[in-house]
Amino acid sequence: MSSVPAYLTTLKHVFGFDALRGGQQTVVDTLLAGRSAAAIFPTGSGKSLCYQLPALHLPHLTLVISPLLALMKDQLDFLKAKGIAAASIDSSQSYEQTREVMRAVKQGEMRILMISVERLKNERFRQFIASVPLSLLVVDEAHCISEWGHNFRPDYLKLPLYCQQLNIGQVLLLTATATAPVISDMQRKFGIAHSDVVITGFYRSNLDLNVIPCPESDKTEQLLALVQHAPPQATIVYVTLQQTAEMVANRLLQVGVNASAYHAGMDSDVRHDIQRRFMQGHIDCIVATIAFGMGVDKADIRAVIHYDLPKSIENYSQEIGRAGRDGLASTCSVLANRQGLNVLENFVYGDTPDVSAIAAVIDDIAHQQHQGQWEVMLLRLSRDTNVRQLPLKTLLVYLELQGVIAPKYSYFAEYRFKTLSSIDSIVAHFTGERRAFVEALIAASPKSRIWHTLDFDALWQLTHSERSRAVAALDYFAEQGWIVLESKQMTEVYQVCQPERCHGAAAQELAQQLHQLFITKEAADIKRVHAMLDVFATKSCLSHRLAEYFADDKAPMHCGHCSVCRGDIAQLPELSTLPAIDNHEFNALCQPFLAAGAGQNSSVSGDALARFLCGISTPLTSTLKATKMAGFGRYSAYPFAEIRRLTQTLAAEAPAETH
Ligand SMILES: [Zn+2]
Repeated sequence: MSSVPAYLTTLKHVFGFDALRGGQQTVVDTLLAGRSAAAIFPTGSGKSLCYQLPALHLPHLTLVISPLLALMKDQLDFLKAKGIAAASIDSSQSYEQTREVMRAVKQGEMRILMISVERLKNERFRQFIASVPLSLLVVDEAHCISEWGHNFRPDYLKLPLYCQQLNIGQVLLLTATATAPVISDMQRKFGIAHSDVVITGFYRSNLDLNVIPCPESDKTEQLLALVQHAPPQATIVYVTLQQTAEMVANRLLQVGVNASAYHAGMDSDVRHDIQRRFMQGHIDCIVATIAFGMGVDKADIRAVIHYDLPKSIENYSQEIGRAGRDGLASTCSVLANRQGLNVLENFVYGDTPDVSAIAAVIDDIAHQQHQGQWEVMLLRLSRDTNVRQLPLKTLLVYLELQGVIAPKYSYFAEYRFKTLSSIDSIVAHFTGERRAFVEALIAASPKSRIWHTLDFDALWQLTHSERSRAVAALDYFAEQGWIVLESKQMTEVYQVCQPERCHGAAAQELAQQLHQLFITKEAADIKRVHAMLDVFATKSCLSHRLAEYFADDKAPMHCGHCSVCRGDIAQLPELSTLPAIDNHEFNALCQPFLAAGAGQNSSVSGDALARFLCGISTPLTSTLKATKMAGFGRYSAYPFAEIRRLTQTLAAEAPAETH
């Protein structure tokens, strides 16, 4: 036996590195010893190598679950440049490309296959991958698995189940941010030993951390002072609500700061343009809701200011992590008080569906299914039941884990295209039967001013062709540059496995049971909000507390560059007493929303009304165009529970008034 492990030779010859870094070495050794592992490394510290190297030494295929197509493409380019047999199956591929990848995987020619978690919802793909021997499952952004963490992605919750079903012996979890409870949740779900969790440091020596206690009414002045005192420099100010972004950006502009608001309520073209100008240095200061930041890779951001409290410590850590990527000194400040707490709690409450809404979803399964299959457009169901899309997805996963439904596949319900070449020239590319099919396809796609919309039923009448053939043809036209193709309205198809649980008393019991899961999750989310305030009010070094929150015990005890180390322990101002609610005004603010609901035959429950008043967007607020009404968010500073108590009676009386 050679004293040099074989993988070090591979490391040198394939990847061109002489040695692994500390954390990487431990992870690679663990995997090659046949155990599962978790690697919790900061962004940019070589997480990917932890699976890429073992993949070349394990007997069978390594399957990688990646959350973003762009990340997948980057890693594939890297692997291909190193001559490693790696591929992805993703939505950007043609049918032929996918088939070729599947053939190569089946023949054992591939070492690494990358997919999105959604791919596993496809029954045919699951059957295919179940027929392939797999050595290792890699889960990137693995913290998405935990319901107790931030960024929970419901589909990730099914990965442990798939791992069992596919008989995959080893797992590697990769993430940049995970708290101790999230780590132990991940460990438990995948059976990873405590000693096989590898954590490297979070500590950033170039970030100066400040908690500035500040009553709500003084925040704007405090912010102006912070920004005006500094020379013009790349700055992100984070706020919670869209209207705050507009207000703060305007105030900054008034005092001569080159600022711009950025939030999800703006058109994507406008947002894109603002981001571009910020990247190029034409805008100094962005006032953003959390919609900003995902794609921002600007190395010289000198200041990150939280005007409102971040949503959680995880969000805070990610958001300040955008400062000083170039390693130069940068400042991170939070304007903190306890009043922002209500706003954050309200977001959590907004995500908990009512029992009646859960019952409505179960009822939909009972009555909209067809021969044991339930087809659902999330957007439609979300609107009909007034459950936000993320909790709705969570609910469907809970129903899957209960064994009530099982995913089969999904498809786009609507395809539309505009032509870039003339119809005649497109048809002229084909002969014989294919030409007849293309002619029928176009005949079945009536044109409005610019766009043709394919009518699958009409096509069936004309040719008796499967929809998959039509979709493949349109994909091909788009690939050739003859048309621009758009697909809309994703439809998910489920098998209904336990229809008996969707009726009567069993359905009620199921709704209660699932509601309880949401209530437990709600309590955990509220607890996380409070944990954040505890960190901001800490008496020990902020850098150290932050690292500790992420289970990293290697940060210095006294960083010397945080407000606590400078002797300023934050005394967060207590809640100022809120003015008593004026009944007359309260009722007046509710009326437009209730009237709009009655006008559209939407039932406005007390909870729905309370969410509107607390400024929590729901499907109903957009259906009723309610975010422009004066009452929207008027009571966002008040506790949700108090507002809900007031709305219960009002909502019950409302229909009688408007009829
Ligand atoms: Zn410190």
